[in-house]
Amino acid sequence: MTNALVDLLAQRDWLLLDGATGTNLFEMGLMSGDAPELWNVDQPEKIRALHRSFVEAGSDVILTNSFGGSRYRLKLHHAEDRVFELNKRAAELAREVADEAGRKVIVAGSVGPTGEILEPVGSLSHADAVAAFEEQIAGLIAGGADVIWGETISSEEELRALAEAAAKQQAPLCATLSFDTAGRTMMGLTSRHYAEIAPGLAQRPIAIGANCGTGASDLLRTVLGITDASPDALVIAKANAGIPKYVDGHIHYDGTPELMADYACLARDAGARLIGGCCGTKPEHLRAMRAALEGHAAGARPSLDEIRAKLGDFSSASDGTEAGDEAGGEGRRRRRRG
Ligand SMILES: [Zn+2]
Repeated sequence: MTNALVDLLAQRDWLLLDGATGTNLFEMGLMSGDAPELWNVDQPEKIRALHRSFVEAGSDVILTNSFGGSRYRLKLHHAEDRVFELNKRAAELAREVADEAGRKVIVAGSVGPTGEILEPVGSLSHADAVAAFEEQIAGLIAGGADVIWGETISSEEELRALAEAAAKQQAPLCATLSFDTAGRTMMGLTSRHYAEIAPGLAQRPIAIGANCGTGASDLLRTVLGITDASPDALVIAKANAGIPKYVDGHIHYDGTPELMADYACLARDAGARLIGGCCGTKPEHLRAMRAALEGHAAGARPSLDEIRAKLGDFSSASDGTEAGDEAGGEGRRRRRRG
């Protein structure tokens, strides 16, 4: 499959992704409880400004403002009948900014979880989840997205539904999970498990990885888990800018640009080639990350101790990938590169 993202990855050692959508939009006046996706129509200049701030900071890939653009999420804002319109507009706004950049910038169509729990644990059927993702993907592709970008997924059922929807829409896919619960996703998936099932998904992702979660240290441990299990995978690292802290009534991320620059270089050494920031990541962080990556000589795969020393401690002692942690883990061979 020929694709703008694949083409760019063939020319470059790493690509810089963008920063936070939600936390930056809050700073631009979005109120807690509002649907960011409505701004694609109501406040398009602010969405363009957000994309432009990332491109100017050096992002090679920008994510559309469509994370909550499924009918289930939009229903909370009585906009469930506007899925195609809001997603198409999201992609069009990012496309405009990407195309005026003067260099190649990839538009990735963000798709977050539906917010519903899929069968058998929950009540959303596989067929309904696939249909919802298809509707969202169709809008994003119609608006000019180069690739569909699943984010913050935590259940295998939802990941499979997303991949099936992408396959049905013949849309190239990348997908990141959020490993926010002691190194596993909320629904219990480990980095190793994701690496193992990814190649068999209905639409094989171009790149797999992690976004959001806890801090940058945890996210790099996840990257090590993925690259350990699947050394040839193209891997995405999109960590929060530090740990969220509640300060004066709002959430503040304490990660400095210097910390995120260290994280970016460690992510590259850990095997990630698509590197960006999630919640709390501002253009100033991205500028520091870009400069650091450009000046970075490839280093050895970092140890957990090195990550801890540079970025701070992990949120849990284990992330579930150590020998014997997983059912059937006994017979697993640990593969290491380098
Ligand atoms: Zn995040």
